[in-house]
Amino acid sequence: MKKTGTVYLVGAGPGDPDLLTLRAARLLEHAELVVHDGLVDPAVLALAPPAAELVSVAKSRARHTLAQDQINALLVREARAGRDVVRLKGGDPLVFGRGGEEAEACRFAGVPVEIVPGISAANGAAAAAQITLTHRDASSVVSFVAGQCKGLAEQDWAGLADKGRTLVIYMGVKTAPQIAEKLMGDGLAPDMPVAVIENACRPEMRVLRGPLAALPDLVVRERVKSPALIVIGEVTAREDAVVAQLMETMA
Ligand code: SAH
Repeated sequence: MKKTGTVYLVGAGPGDPDLLTLRAARLLEHAELVVHDGLVDPAVLALAPPAAELVSVAKSRARHTLAQDQINALLVREARAGRDVVRLKGGDPLVFGRGGEEAEACRFAGVPVEIVPGISAANGAAAAAQITLTHRDASSVVSFVAGQCKGLAEQDWAGLADKGRTLVIYMGVKTAPQIAEKLMGDGLAPDMPVAVIENACRPEMRVLRGPLAALPDLVVRERVKSPALIVIGEVTAREDAVVAQLMETMA
């Protein structure tokens, strides 16, 4: 009987291949089968050997794509057939990446699974935009939330973005107007500073800033597209971050 392969759940980081861990790069360079999401940058996929089989399980409305349980089944089936599988996910596999579900499916099926962390979009975007997520004087709590979550209206986020806190919203472009409305309805000041970072760590990155009340307009006027992060909190308006952006515009 063939030896069961291992499933490696690998974080591909936010875009730039230089932001892969060495472990991710090594696994990719020796991969025979790579199963990847749509968010994984083509420059990262290019590190796989030419003979490697690349399977996209990108989410797309336009075409038929695999449901999560079909992805789980694919990983298990390939590993049972004796192949090692590099399952590449944008950012970190365990931050809004369903890595937990895939690891569980593998464990349940008796397939060895290893998780390789990646730089999550929040860390990549913060570094690229020179926004500190914590600051001794300005923020001692950072929260990552999903803007597309079910029951947005029932969530209590205001406390997450109040004074001394930083709120990072993933998958929030479409729901930006509801998010802004909800946060202000929950008591957050309309002039609370916000930064939107689109395509962080990619050549086409944009960093947009404004007060919370102007977030819905900003997203429409600038035609912000996914992938983008919304960061809310005083840290986004600290002089160091704003000066860094000004210098970039002048360069
Ligand atoms: N596992 C990923 C998150 C997947 S959810 C991680 O750890 O980063 C997908 C969301 O991540 C996108 O909707 C967007 O909000 C964010 N995202 C991923 N890559 C990004 C990038 N390069 N720039 C800005 N946001 C990004």
